[in-house]
Amino acid sequence: MQETLDLRVTPRVAAEPHLLSQEVARLAGVSKDSVRHVLVTRRSIDARQRQVMVNLSVRAYIDEEPSSLSLVRAVDYRSVASDAPQAIVVGAGPAGLFAALRLIEEGVRPIVLERGKDVDSRRPDMADIARKGVVDPDSNYCFGEGGAGAFSDGKLYTRSKKRGSVDKILNIFAQHGASENILVDAHPHIGTDKLPGVIKAMRETICRCGGEVRFSTRVTELIIERDEVRGVVTAGGEKYFGPVILATGHSARDVYRFLLSAGVTMEPKGLAVGVRLEHPQHLIDCLRYHSKDGRGRYLPAAEYTMLTRVDDRGVYSFCMCPGGVVIPSASGPEQLAVNGMSGSARSSRWANAAMVVEVLPEDIPTVGTDDDPEGILKMLRFQESIEKAFWQEAGQTQNAPAQRMADFVNGRPSSSLPQVSYAPGAHPARIDKLLPKGIARRLQLGFKDFDRKNRGFLTNDAVLIGAETRTSSPLRIPRDNESLRHITLKGLYPCGEGAGYAGGIVSAAIDGDRSAAAVADDLNVS
Ligand code: FAD
Repeated sequence: MQETLDLRVTPRVAAEPHLLSQEVARLAGVSKDSVRHVLVTRRSIDARQRQVMVNLSVRAYIDEEPSSLSLVRAVDYRSVASDAPQAIVVGAGPAGLFAALRLIEEGVRPIVLERGKDVDSRRPDMADIARKGVVDPDSNYCFGEGGAGAFSDGKLYTRSKKRGSVDKILNIFAQHGASENILVDAHPHIGTDKLPGVIKAMRETICRCGGEVRFSTRVTELIIERDEVRGVVTAGGEKYFGPVILATGHSARDVYRFLLSAGVTMEPKGLAVGVRLEHPQHLIDCLRYHSKDGRGRYLPAAEYTMLTRVDDRGVYSFCMCPGGVVIPSASGPEQLAVNGMSGSARSSRWANAAMVVEVLPEDIPTVGTDDDPEGILKMLRFQESIEKAFWQEAGQTQNAPAQRMADFVNGRPSSSLPQVSYAPGAHPARIDKLLPKGIARRLQLGFKDFDRKNRGFLTNDAVLIGAETRTSSPLRIPRDNESLRHITLKGLYPCGEGAGYAGGIVSAAIDGDRSAAAVADDLNVS
């Protein structure tokens, strides 16, 4: 017999299988020995009260052995026919990879063009950013197989209400080697040590089923004939023909520029900028789990989410990485931008999160330039100006400006810094003066508010490292809500974060999946 039960247990009971079995037997009113297996299907931590509890949904096997212990509902990928139509996917980030997989499901042959290298070959280039301060504009933390999500925390939660779509994406990740815990945990994550293996497995599925993935292939132009995109041209001069899913992410500034010069309609979009804030993880564990001893043996590194409003703009935490490290995420010259990542065990001694302030297009004056008379790129230029200011302050290196948190709030210099996780190194600087005034002031007031709600959060043991500017796309490439085609160009499907339709790995993946279905619809193959 199988019984589905909801339980609320202590972290120790949740972590120790024999204690969990006992509790299940008690609840089900059966003997301990008759519980053959307990399969956890849902898990969330409730840290609102002093006694932290774990909420579980389980499937209990009573006097019955389970036939399978896997929760994965795998998609059956079959090879596309040799005469199948083809579609071009530009970018092998989450949006592009999931678009390619969906094209295969629909019987369309995907040709994925990626400017960067395969996920393993990216590593030495990323190491060079820390070691030599050199950023390869085609291979870095943002560009290359797996996109910006490959070397990240691999958080897989999203505010998307499309539960069915979220489940599909999580199942595809698990089918390609991610831990099944991502199907169970309320806040799933994969971790940067596991993500590359999962991404490679997805590429293998694409290639095994008749798709192609071409690395070091940067798209530089669209082939447009009579208001229809027919294909793309690459930096090497090759041409590829077919409908184009453009999934180039929010850091491909050269893409926005070539689209603008080709007259493709785009519009400035709001974003958020600020800093990475790094605390000792132990301090966050103590705050979140209400214990001076931290998280103890059974709880994971604690997370937080902070949100307030200051002068009519949101001030909030973003992309929190428990047990993680701060990384250099510039994608070209004259930039200093930071982000965060963590391993699957989230075991570093630091906790970091972006702390950012919302900036709307109306906050930035519209100033035209020769190549952009209408100021369509103004938000992008705003991002660039902050990254350049930080890079200049850093002596044109990746050694990041940093300031202790309480010093920042009180507008005074930090005479020293604690050890930080950021590999290229950090130096004391006046972040309160480097950031635009309106951003710095809102962050200062926001931090005070966060401390009122979480006593001890505002401390000089925490450090701000800057700048955090790549929170979302500075432009939207507008598309029709139904067909997902660009509003004026047939054959072009703006997709994922770079087009302004996603913010994070899962939402980008969902958008890739949807865009590919729309392409298949237009090709009349489904
Ligand atoms: P991207 O991932 O940016 O992929 C775009 C791809 O297009 C890249 O591979 C790029 O090389 C390629 N490309 C660009 N221009 C061209 C061109 N001209 N020709 C060919 N190819 C091109 N989100 C989460 O949900 N959870 C996290 O834990 C998380 N952590 C992050 C950590 C870091 C360090 C970073 C940088 C981001 C993180 N994010 C996280 C955000 C997340 O990675 C992005 O939201 C997501 O990757 C967007 O997916 P995408 O496919 O739309 O774009």
